[in-house]
Amino acid sequence: MDLFEHQARELFEEHGIPVPRAEVTDSSKEARGIARRLGGRVVVKAQVRTGGRGKAGGVKLAADPSAAELTARQILGMDIKGHTVRTVMLAQPVDIDAEFYVGYVLDRAAGRFLAIASAEGGMDIEEVAATRPDAVARVHIDPAEGVTSAKATEIADAAGLPPRTVDVLVRLWDVLVREDAVLVEVNPLVRTSQGQILALDGKVTLDDNARFRQARWGDQESVHDDPLEAAAAAKGLNYVKLDGEVGIIGNGAGLVMSTLDVVAGCGARPANFLDIGGGASARIMADGLSVVLSDPAVRSVFVNVFGGITACDAVADGIVQALDTVRLTKPLVVRLDGNNAARGRAILDERAHPLVHQVTTMDGAARRAADLAHTADAA
Ligand code: GDP
Ligand code: MN
Repeated sequence: MDLFEHQARELFEEHGIPVPRAEVTDSSKEARGIARRLGGRVVVKAQVRTGGRGKAGGVKLAADPSAAELTARQILGMDIKGHTVRTVMLAQPVDIDAEFYVGYVLDRAAGRFLAIASAEGGMDIEEVAATRPDAVARVHIDPAEGVTSAKATEIADAAGLPPRTVDVLVRLWDVLVREDAVLVEVNPLVRTSQGQILALDGKVTLDDNARFRQARWGDQESVHDDPLEAAAAAKGLNYVKLDGEVGIIGNGAGLVMSTLDVVAGCGARPANFLDIGGGASARIMADGLSVVLSDPAVRSVFVNVFGGITACDAVADGIVQALDTVRLTKPLVVRLDGNNAARGRAILDERAHPLVHQVTTMDGAARRAADLAHTADAA
C-alpha cells in the first residue's frame, strides 16, 4: 500500500528526518488558517498517490493566507493522472540550493535491498537514469546488515551527495525496517540556502503482508481511484479494472487469471479481473454482473465457471436470478463445466435469454466472447 506524501512526511519526522512544517486539510477555508499558522507564505501540495504532481500543477507556491485559500481551492478536486485530489498539504516553503534523490527499494531478484541515490534529484529520476545513468548510484544493501553510517557514507560518496546526508540515509533505512516498507523514497532531498538538509517530498510503500502489525494504517483501506473498483470493493467483490472490452467473471483466482490469458489469446482484451469465489450466489452474480456491465468499455461478458464445491446448477440459478435484477445490455457468454454442469446448462437453456450464449469449452467460449465483443455494434 502506498502512503500519501503527508503520511510519509509524518513517518520521516518520527524517525528524526528533518522535514518542513506542514499541515493537511480537505478545505480551502481551513487552508487560509493553516497558512497563517505557518507564517503566511506556503507551498500548497496536492495529496495523491502518484508522482509528477509538480508538473501537473499540483504543487504551487502561495504568497499569503488568502492566496493559499485560492490555490487550495484550485488544487482540491483536480485530477492528476486519474487521481482526484481530496486533500492538500500546506508546507513552509524553503529556499532550495540543491535537490537530491535518495531511496531504498526491495530488489527481489537480488534478494537484497537497493539504495538508489543521485545528486540530480527533483525531477523524474527514471528520466535521469535513462539519459544519464552515471548520475544515478546503485548500492546493494545486505538486509541483515542494513544501512550503518559506513554504508550510508558509501552511498552518499557513490552519488556525490554532501556528507550531511549520511544521517538522513541511516534514518531512512530505519523508516524502511521499522515501518515494514518495501520502498522509501525522498525526491527531492534538498540542501537549503542555509545549508540544512530537508526531505521535501516522500514516498513510502508498505509491505501489505505486514499490515497486521502496522495497525495505524489499518482503518485506511487501500484507495480505489477507479470508480468501478470502488463500487466493487463496496460490494466485497475482488475486481480489478483492466483496459479491454471483454468483461470477465469467474470462480477462483487461478481460473480467472487463465481466462484473461485465453481471451487475450483470442485477440481480444479483458476488461477486468473478477473472481466471485466459491459461493457464486445470485446476489454475488448480480453484483458482479452489474459492476462489469457498468464499464462502458465492455462489449461482451464471459462468465467462466468450473463447478467444484459450488455446483454449476447453483451458479446457473444465480445467473437466472441475477437476470431478473440486472438488465443485460451486452451479450453474455457462459461456460459451465465440472460439478453438475449438465444440470446447470439445462437451467440456462430453459431461461432462454436472447443475449445469453452457452459454450461448453473454455477456449470456445473465449473465442465467442471475443467475436461478440468485436461485432457487438451490429447486435
Ligand atoms: P512531485 O512533483 O509529485 O514529485 O512533488 P514534489 O513535492 O517533489 O514537488 C515538485 C517540485 O516542487 C520539487 O522538486 C521542488 O523543486 C518544488 N518544490 C516543492 N516544495 C518546494 C519549496 O518549499 N520551495 C521551493 N523553492 N520549491 C519547492
Ligand atoms: Mn517529488
